[in-house]
Amino acid sequence: MKLLVINAGSSSLKYQLYDMTDESVLAKGLVERIGMDSSILTHKPIGKEEVTEVSEILEHTTAIRKVLEKLTDKEHGVLASVNEIQAVGHRVVHGGEAFKGSALVTPEVKAEIRRLFDLAPLHNPPAIMGINASEANMPGVPNVVAFDTAFHQTMDEKVYLYPIPRVLYKKHRIRRYGAHGTSHQYVSRMAAEYLNRPIEELKIITCHIGNGASLTAVKGGVSVDTSMGLTPLEGLMMGTRSGDLDPTVVTFVMNKEELSISEVNSMLNKHSGLLAISGSSSDMRDITDGWEEGKPNETLAFEMYEYRLRKYIGSYAAAMNGVDVIVFTAGVGENSAIVREKTCENLSYLGVELDKELNKIRSGEPRRISTPNSKVEVLVIPTNEELMIARDTLSIVQESK
Ligand code: ADP
Repeated sequence: MKLLVINAGSSSLKYQLYDMTDESVLAKGLVERIGMDSSILTHKPIGKEEVTEVSEILEHTTAIRKVLEKLTDKEHGVLASVNEIQAVGHRVVHGGEAFKGSALVTPEVKAEIRRLFDLAPLHNPPAIMGINASEANMPGVPNVVAFDTAFHQTMDEKVYLYPIPRVLYKKHRIRRYGAHGTSHQYVSRMAAEYLNRPIEELKIITCHIGNGASLTAVKGGVSVDTSMGLTPLEGLMMGTRSGDLDPTVVTFVMNKEELSISEVNSMLNKHSGLLAISGSSSDMRDITDGWEEGKPNETLAFEMYEYRLRKYIGSYAAAMNGVDVIVFTAGVGENSAIVREKTCENLSYLGVELDKELNKIRSGEPRRISTPNSKVEVLVIPTNEELMIARDTLSIVQESK
């Protein structure tokens, strides 16, 4: 069965076409600057030459039409006909409390995603645009939605509630939802598979650290705690996001600096984290370069980042009364040997022992970077959210037949 996986943002649309007989990717690509005067479509058919096209793509329906044209193009295509696509899987950021797993798209499911616009105003509306666009271009083809929050719906009430007046939860559903669920689920499963141990008996801490970053405590295969909260701002220090801080900082700054709600939101989401402390970059490559050169601001940013990451790992070991496996994934987790080394150096009290040479090897494959003596297995596992979505799409479509 051939499946298309779509990740729609407000002005972008990423896609991957899978052949699920062997889970291979046939083509992938990206449409950028949707709604602007020169939109860019980059199409990468596997085994054929990459193609880039600049045109005017005003909305998502046209974007998907152009993608389908490329997928069936004589020169750059990988399909004889659009009819070969038997289902489409969509990434949706917020599934609230309604979705505990992926779901087949129905009018009710779309209405529920719309009801959640309040909780994810930047992310859920484009997901609906993506679904509508795929329904318009491929009538009769089933659509499946996979939610970033769904994996965390197993968290206990004592974990997901904030200690604030309960009426706010009842009225506005204010609670911890978490994010990156598809990635945390995928890498925790892969970790158990790699170690050849049943996931039911493992306590795993998954560190998804990219531009956005979150940690999850996975006990027996389910998420028991995660560092992102009502929104993806809580938790770790990130590229441009602050992560945890005293909420009074917000009201104090708004008052003293006369900032509006949107200005303070923008400060915390776009102008904080590594960028704010280094004063130069939100990219971990620049920060570690600066740290190696002894630049004081980059050094401070690096130390704060690593310290906060390590504190969270310690707290999740406490939450699960132990840890068997620590997994690093996403842009920083997969690529930055120095972030992994420094973080693990300070986890020796847990029995973590890193093999520094193994840690330096780059392979793009799941691998162990701890020593045989380490009490905790430390793994690097490349995440693959698209494949997880494709697998869910396949099983839901097959079940619904
Ligand atoms: P997103 O959260 O946007 O999906 P990614 O998971 O792709 O992002 O992570 C992107 C980030 O990964 C970059 O901003 C950069 O900080 C970091 N990164 C990528 N390669 C390296 C590297 N070799 N060393 C350190 N950091 C890296």
